[in-house]
Amino acid sequence: MHDQFNIINLGITKCYIINCTGGYLLIDTGYSNKFERFKKKINKLGINVDSIKYLFLTHHHEDHAGFARELREKSGCKLIVHRSGIKYLEKGETIIPPKIVNAKVKISIAMFHLVHKTENYPPIKILEDDIVLDTDDVLFLKSIGINGKILYTPGHSKDSISIVLSDGSAFVGDAAMNFLKLCDLKFRPIYIDDMEQVLLSWEKMIKEGAKVVYPAHGKPFTIVDLRKVMKK
Ligand SMILES: [Zn+2]
Repeated sequence: MHDQFNIINLGITKCYIINCTGGYLLIDTGYSNKFERFKKKINKLGINVDSIKYLFLTHHHEDHAGFARELREKSGCKLIVHRSGIKYLEKGETIIPPKIVNAKVKISIAMFHLVHKTENYPPIKILEDDIVLDTDDVLFLKSIGINGKILYTPGHSKDSISIVLSDGSAFVGDAAMNFLKLCDLKFRPIYIDDMEQVLLSWEKMIKEGAKVVYPAHGKPFTIVDLRKVMKK
């Protein structure tokens, strides 16, 4: 429990819900079948679905945008997305990045896909008053009462965006990960579009004041820990 945000653990995906003017901003949804679980978890925190005013999608993948459409239907929330993800969101499609970080992860992913068959989710249309970003944005969050900024953080996917709050809390989606302990990820995403971009995005987060990283997959970790693996 933090002053400004709560962690909603939906199994594989962790979502984060931040106070904003007149309600809440949610960072990511889980898979499409997690909406009921999500509702139960936020109700326990005293939050109703219809008080979610904004859904910030760190990128278009199914474990992040899964119940975006259902949430929008129930809450009327506005979306905050990167422009390059729109074509996939509107088709309910997941573009799997071309590279897998290492051989151990390759095996884990193959096992996961034995039980998990689809990469699709209900498509969601981007509307006129949604917030569509092309790059970093320092004004929007402040306009809704959140002391922080939005960073464009590609590398895992071309449409990856992150939030860094003024206290150093960084919500990065899959720009960095901290799970599959035995797979030696060193905070790298399991799927990579461009490793050089991953590192540039990490450098950007650090430069913009990130202190503790809250990934969508796995436990929070510090920038001190991240720096250690970057030196190697
Ligand atoms: Zn992803």
